[in-house]
Amino acid sequence: MVNSISVLGSTGSVGRQTLEAAARLRVKILALAARSNISLLEEQARRFHPHLAAVYDETAAKTLRIALGDTDTRVVSGEGGLLEAACIAGADAVCAAVSGAVGLLPTLAAITLGRRICLANKETLVCAGALVTAAAREHGAEILPVDSEHSAIFQCLQGKSRDELRRILLTASGGPFLGRSREQCAAVTPEMAVRHPNWSMGAKISVDSATMMNKGLEFIEAMHLFGVAPEQIEVLIHPESVVHSMVEFVDGSVLAQCAVPDMALPIQYALTYPARLSSQTARLDFNAFAALHFSAPDLAAMPCLALAMELARRGGNLPCAMSAANEAAVALFLAGKIGYNAIYDRVAAACQRIEFTETPTLENILDTDERARELVYAM
Ligand code: NDP
Ligand code: MG
Repeated sequence: MVNSISVLGSTGSVGRQTLEAAARLRVKILALAARSNISLLEEQARRFHPHLAAVYDETAAKTLRIALGDTDTRVVSGEGGLLEAACIAGADAVCAAVSGAVGLLPTLAAITLGRRICLANKETLVCAGALVTAAAREHGAEILPVDSEHSAIFQCLQGKSRDELRRILLTASGGPFLGRSREQCAAVTPEMAVRHPNWSMGAKISVDSATMMNKGLEFIEAMHLFGVAPEQIEVLIHPESVVHSMVEFVDGSVLAQCAVPDMALPIQYALTYPARLSSQTARLDFNAFAALHFSAPDLAAMPCLALAMELARRGGNLPCAMSAANEAAVALFLAGKIGYNAIYDRVAAACQRIEFTETPTLENILDTDERARELVYAM
């Protein structure tokens, strides 16, 4: 159980829920960080009294500095501010809940301090999984998954050794367009894509859930978190989102973790681990379900998932290129500049043009990230 934390991305969907969990558990908030939503950040600073509030946007940071002038919260800005928030003295854990690859450097910095990482920001592991997990081993930092599927797998693996694990069954709701062909998705608008049937989330991950890129990112996230090969992960469509994922052991036994779809639970477990504390999460009523369904994904209708699985096998800097290209393409789609199917087209084309590096350094990763975005914007 942690006593004090820093929350990166505190104004987002996971960040806000993390603050509520921290308030319930009486965990102290030492630092907050966001990009530009300073009205909410000010409210959070006045409620939680952090030592530090980091605002990525310089102009917004200046405004917040004036607004919080009567408080003890110091306001910092830019990439340096985000790093300061990640490394704030006295915190036992960092909740990495920013969206996108901007989470990589602050998360790595907190890892080198040996802090617990409550990781929602899957892009960090997709971009630089080998570097991040090696640094965590070297510095004794625990990475606790907040992503519900990975929390489920982590919970199923408690008390088991890795050589008892045969494979992971990664479940996916299938998103709002399950059953539609690629042609039938051509006219999907941002408003349609961000409406998820089972979960309420930030815009980028909601679009990723619709395209199934989210499951592709989670496939790669699982490889790094649990040290498994791509052949050991099977994706299963499970529209009810009751089974959050499963683990099959070498003797053929399968364990599943089930709960209502509510991020409050994996967030709380990452904060209280190894303890399990009581929570206000609604209880699962199995009587409410006539049936639970599981099926193999239709990869032809889900090309983003197929691409991610292929690049997961090829490895190197390709998952980083894919994730960065996807961030850029989703931003263009949300801004109304490209169509829904162009997300996959641009990501796939950018990945084809990236120079392959088998064992990327951090510098290679940062270069790949920048290059992939440039390619998408230039198409
Ligand atoms: P949101 O879009 O709701 O929130 C993103 C947060 O990141 C906001 O606080 C935003 O600040 C902040 N942010 C974005 N860019 C920067 C930056 N450059 N510097 C500092 N802060 C920044 O996202 P979600 O909460 O939905 O998702 C966050 C992460 O968690 C993602 O990686 C996602 O994949 C993962 N995740 C989310 C789940 C969910 O249920 N939402 C479930 C599982 C994983 P501002 O508000 O100022 O823009
Ligand atoms: Mg998930």
